[in-house]
Amino acid sequence: MKNSCVYPGSFDPITLGHLDIIERASKIYDKVIVLIMQNPSKHNVFSELERKEFIERCCKHLNNVEVVIGNGLTVNVAKKLDCHVMIRGIRAVSDYEFELQQATANLTLDNSIETLFMVSRPEYSFLSSSLAKQIASLNGDVSSCIPKEILNEFMERMKEGSHE
Ligand code: ADP
Repeated sequence: MKNSCVYPGSFDPITLGHLDIIERASKIYDKVIVLIMQNPSKHNVFSELERKEFIERCCKHLNNVEVVIGNGLTVNVAKKLDCHVMIRGIRAVSDYEFELQQATANLTLDNSIETLFMVSRPEYSFLSSSLAKQIASLNGDVSSCIPKEILNEFMERMKEGSHE
């Protein structure tokens, strides 16, 4: 598919930082596919289907965004979807080393797929799903971290504890 990109990640759950990257990418590409991938090193609170529904709800205003749940290697999923660009967000120098390693590994696995980095907006450069979960679990205010469309449900679930 020409002029489309995938934006892979765990999105457990989607934050305002993720949403900002999706909105900016949707202005550059005809189609943005948000790809929910398993990350074995992360313990997820929300199921893949819940995460998908959350992203869809937050992206209702964007008519060129689709959400897909993927399995296996991200480059293989991207290729199957006929996307040759993967977007990743960089918040700080600390992200860079890991992202560089991933992007180089992916290039070695499939050199037809390019990784492009978008830098985080300064107001979201501190933000991660883990931080939002940590604040919420201590009953803190996460309205500057989590999209309003999912805020109540997110808080409810964080009070109940993990479901996956
Ligand atoms: P992963 O498990 O692949 O790191 P995440 O859901 O944590 O998945 O993040 C997906 C992508 O979004 C990554 O490229 C990450 O760097 C980026 N990202 C996460 N939080 C932000 C943020 N606050 N601003 C910009 N990009 C972000």
